[in-house]
Amino acid sequence: MGMLFNGLNNVAMNSISDLYRSLPSVDKLLQQPELADLCETVGVDSVKVAIQNQLDQLRTQIAAKQDGIAERLTATDFTDQLTRQVAAAVEGQFSSTLVPVFNLTGTVIHTNLGRSKLPTEAIMAMELAAAESNNLEFDLSSGKRGDRDSHIEAAICDICGAEAATVVNNNAAAVLLVLSTFAAGKEVLISRGELVEIGGSFRIPDVMKSAGCRLREVGTTNRTHLKDFDTALSDQSALIMKVHTSNYEIKGFTQSVPENELSDLAHQHEIPFVSDLGSGTLVDLTQYGLPDEPTVASELARGADLVTFSGDKLLGGPQAGVIVGRKELVRRIKQNPLKRALRIDKITLAALLEVINLYRDPQRLAERMPTLSDLTRSTDAIEATAQQIVGGLQEVLGEIAEVAIEPCKSQIGSGALPTELLDSHAIVFEPIAAKGERDASLMNLAAAFRGLPKPVIGRIHAGRFFLDCRCLRDESAFLQQLSELSVADSS
Ligand SMILES: *Cc1c(COP(=O)(O)O)cnc(C)c1O
Repeated sequence: MGMLFNGLNNVAMNSISDLYRSLPSVDKLLQQPELADLCETVGVDSVKVAIQNQLDQLRTQIAAKQDGIAERLTATDFTDQLTRQVAAAVEGQFSSTLVPVFNLTGTVIHTNLGRSKLPTEAIMAMELAAAESNNLEFDLSSGKRGDRDSHIEAAICDICGAEAATVVNNNAAAVLLVLSTFAAGKEVLISRGELVEIGGSFRIPDVMKSAGCRLREVGTTNRTHLKDFDTALSDQSALIMKVHTSNYEIKGFTQSVPENELSDLAHQHEIPFVSDLGSGTLVDLTQYGLPDEPTVASELARGADLVTFSGDKLLGGPQAGVIVGRKELVRRIKQNPLKRALRIDKITLAALLEVINLYRDPQRLAERMPTLSDLTRSTDAIEATAQQIVGGLQEVLGEIAEVAIEPCKSQIGSGALPTELLDSHAIVFEPIAAKGERDASLMNLAAAFRGLPKPVIGRIHAGRFFLDCRCLRDESAFLQQLSELSVADSS
């Protein structure tokens, strides 16, 4: 090496041009079996670009007389090495950052982890809708333009006891559309106790602003009376809104106005009463042993003119927003130009329809809907899953942490039934590290699980790491990848 680049003598100059010449050609590299295979899968252009990038880097290193470059280029396995580098670069470019994970956080409907897992029926319908042309907005009997809501409206109305329904991209869009249709430039009355923020990104006051309406806060945070609404009403009022306080609960000295009284008051003033239910449920969940949550039908029965709810929370379907209620109001919503911008896509629509149809058979709902099935899983079944994996975990992590099974509480998540917890079992890890290093050790443990091929997401609580086994269905896939767990040293 020292010899090669020693000064400006001829030997060195020749050697440098020799090094340039020793670089394999693009064509030669393309013929390497590994790269030829890659060309089949991702196309020759991407592989060529990756090869050229690697060769350019090498030329730069030669020109800069980088340490060790001559040895690298003249090594007998240089072409193999280069081939592997090119392949890794191409694979990196094509690998998705969106990957399946194990949700062992203990929050079943986890917004950051994609909320609901869909039933098989919905997945099959999505495949068909994706692969083929369909009559999304085409009336087969008249041969004229149709309405995409028509495929699902009757089924939704049937289950909710509603006059009319329409579907959009998500519940935030549903709320935006309702406000923009009925309250643009006017006031919306809402109890101060319900000015909620959901998941940090959906704040009722901000949505009001983007819909061009003015928020009229009524009452105090903990108590709101009917007379507060009565005095707040004016000719500027466009609607009264009730927001399901879904991710917190105000306890103690509280008072809110019953829906039917708000509804009566709104109607006396000839304005609609709208309920944003958030995590809408279509059936009585107590029949599955779950806590009581208002259903869409009960909300309508209590006098709501319109109810909005999410498709992927308790409903267990795809991301969507549903608006149900009075025919005349839904008709006006459908005419709002914003509806076009917020509309549901055909693949989601296909999935949502299947999910809605499963609700027609409540007896089998808990086995067929993955979200409901996770929520209703027996503690015995969860403990059995924990038993199956605890040994494997002790084997791999026994020197880093005490590993044991403990009863714990799961949450429903996504704002539903916020204060109701479900009995569950978790694998709990308590770091063995010295006192000052425990936090770092916990972080490293959580990071190691996240670094697995199918990342495992748990939660850290009070100095320990929890893997709630409620949503773990594939124990063998979980155990199989444990050998790849690599925990950084925290000391
Ligand atoms: C979750 C929620 C929303 C937002 O619904 P997305 O489907 O996430 O857009 C709006 N209002 C309430 C009360 C909610 O709980």
